[in-house]
Amino acid sequence: MIIAVDGPTASGKGTIARRLGAHFGLPVLDTGLLYRAVGHGVAQAGDDAQDEAAAMEHIAFPNDLLDDPALRSERIGGYASQVSAHPKVRQALFDRQVAFAAQPQGAVLDGRDIGTVIAPHADAKLYITASVDARAKRRFAEMHRRREDVTLAAIADDLRARDARDMERAAAPLKPADDALLLDTSDLTIEQAVRQAIALVERRIESRS
Ligand code: C5P
Repeated sequence: MIIAVDGPTASGKGTIARRLGAHFGLPVLDTGLLYRAVGHGVAQAGDDAQDEAAAMEHIAFPNDLLDDPALRSERIGGYASQVSAHPKVRQALFDRQVAFAAQPQGAVLDGRDIGTVIAPHADAKLYITASVDARAKRRFAEMHRRREDVTLAAIADDLRARDARDMERAAAPLKPADDALLLDTSDLTIEQAVRQAIALVERRIESRS
């Protein structure tokens, strides 16, 4: 069974993907980490993230970099969002994601183009959304806990810029697959969102069997 989970930053898709993996006993790949790893390389080298050739210099990152908490910062998220617009970067990371999805026991992958490009034949596709306001508040609370000095308005502006970049790029833009099930988490707690996601996947699987 392959489950594709797509959606914008801070929509809750990462947590939902992990919990779906635990519920259905499937391995989970957070594909954003792959782009973050490339973005991290670009940032460390002081390269220009808009430069496709420079980004490609950092494509062969070591696997253990994916466990580095430094990848999860907002700054590296910004770099990831820029390098992910380059078709060569996307192509280079494509096989790795397809191979993960093809594991015999199945898989859950979360990202932006899983249901549209990486696993178009996934058994269930979820598209997780939430308003900018709800996402900015979540991100603010998270960063506040980490004692990062930011304002809610700056986070909302950053989310809008990231959404625009992800949705308007030519290469694999963020959009729901035609057969994706939509889940808006704006007014849901994470537990409610996870319960609804599990129910949606179960219903989809039953209807296909
Ligand atoms: O999901 P996360 O915020 O970690 O992703 C970081 C960035 O990587 C996103 O803003 C997006 O631009 C890019 N990305 C992508 N395709 C994916 C996963 C992430 O373009 N499948």
